[in-house]
Amino acid sequence: MAQNFDVIVIGAGPGGYVAAIRAAQLGLKVACVEREHLGGICLNWGCIPTKALLRSAEVYHLMERAKDFGLSAEKFDYDLDKVVARSRGVAKQLTSGVGHLLKKNKVTVIMGTATIPAPGKVSVKTEKGSEELTAKNIILATGARARELPGLEPDGKRVWNYKHALKPPHMPKKLLVIGSGAIGIEFASFFNTLGAETTVVEVMDRVLPVEDAEISVLAKKQFEKQGMKIMEKATVKSLERGADKVTASIETGGKTEKLEFDTVISAVGIVGNVEDLGLEKLGVKIDRTHVVTDEYCRTGVDGLYAIGDVAGAPWLAHKASHEGTMVAELIAGQNAHPIKPNSIPGCTYCNPQVASVGLTEAKAKEAGYKVKVGKFPFIGNGKAIALGEPEGMIKTVFDAKTGELLGAHMVGAEVTELIQGYVVGKTLETTEAELMESVFPHPTLSEMMHESVLSAYGRAIHF
Ligand SMILES: Cc1cc2nc3c(=O)[nH]c(=O)nc-3n(C[C@H](O)[C@H](O)[C@H](O)COP(=O)(O)OP(=O)(O)OC[C@H]3O[C@@H](n4cnc5c(N)ncnc54)[C@H](O)[C@@H]3O)c2cc1C
Repeated sequence: MAQNFDVIVIGAGPGGYVAAIRAAQLGLKVACVEREHLGGICLNWGCIPTKALLRSAEVYHLMERAKDFGLSAEKFDYDLDKVVARSRGVAKQLTSGVGHLLKKNKVTVIMGTATIPAPGKVSVKTEKGSEELTAKNIILATGARARELPGLEPDGKRVWNYKHALKPPHMPKKLLVIGSGAIGIEFASFFNTLGAETTVVEVMDRVLPVEDAEISVLAKKQFEKQGMKIMEKATVKSLERGADKVTASIETGGKTEKLEFDTVISAVGIVGNVEDLGLEKLGVKIDRTHVVTDEYCRTGVDGLYAIGDVAGAPWLAHKASHEGTMVAELIAGQNAHPIKPNSIPGCTYCNPQVASVGLTEAKAKEAGYKVKVGKFPFIGNGKAIALGEPEGMIKTVFDAKTGELLGAHMVGAEVTELIQGYVVGKTLETTEAELMESVFPHPTLSEMMHESVLSAYGRAIHF
């Protein structure tokens, strides 16, 4: 006989497990079905293990700079296997934590592959056979996987996707990274810091193309200073694979050149996991591999919701979790608030870090705003200089008419931790007046957030 629940969540990534826990907290009987690993891509193959790798690279980079701080670290090296083992260990610690949290909240976890044969019904193929479940509400949180372009498909030997790059079979000497979004640039930063001669190819006219144009330019300057080669408006047309090298045909400005590498990382985006679930039969609308939803994550099929990466951009863990919480509260009859796309921060943990929220200056102008723009450089901040991190900038964009904070854009040390200040400001619909009134502790990098706002109104003190 089918087991009945109030809510069945398919997928235990940051979207699914958070939705399951929140629904259980609200008194609902919840099942969470997962085919591979609790924690999803984020904890196993995404956010967390990449940050563990990048931390090793950051420590290594600081050791290289020891002299700048009056220290000597003459004999130091890295052991890639140990760096990777640490990253895998961090991922494992966190995924077992998710198992513990689900258990604590009395969520029934079923390990297996789910399909939805009819509205309100879920079939799960497990190691032992199959299980039938029913529920009035189903939350689809099946996530996404790496996009593969024809001819550039990863093979795990010389051409890698993010999973291969997280458990690399060798240390690249000459690395090509295809794509300069967050994933591509983070891997480029990691391997470049550890000594790989790194080239990044970006089809758009600048690296990190979703960021504010000035931030891209500053980030590029720093990447190049660290020895990376950046090719913009360039396309990798094909890869010729040999036993120990790959020859890439790269087209720029109408010319094609052939360059040799020993390793290639393909980071050309992701596609939603929408297949083999029975969605077409249910009449769920799919647009370019993503489930189409309204602002409450409703699919149009009664009782079926889609959250996180499977429901489209931005492909970020915190967006998935926020949607998970919102849908659980909606199902439980609470006053749920749809997520505001312009309040979702984006962070890239390369060196230097990049973080942003809201509209870029160009997008704000495109949207018809007359803007006031503030900028403050790291070189004007005491803490940045004390840290030995004088490169970077904080830029703020305001509606000139109302003072509404439209966007904030940062490049430099620790900005992924700073951006949250502006996110809170945006959520509270703050204007320049409240931000100027706020007291920022000294000496901190956060003072630059204040100064950037002041600068938009001609009042910056330290620059
Ligand atoms: C290298 C890399 C680095 C990243 N870094 C960051 C970062 O720093 N910050 C950030 O915010 N985001 C980052 N991301 C993106 C982040 O990982 C995703 O946005 C996030 O994992 C999406 O969560 P989700 O719950 O929607 O899906 P996922 O995490 O993909 O989880 C979906 C789960 O569903 C399961 N599943 C799929 N189909 C079925 C089925 N039929 N039955 C049962 N289970 C199923 C899958 O096994 C998976 O565990 C990164 C991604 C990558 C690849």
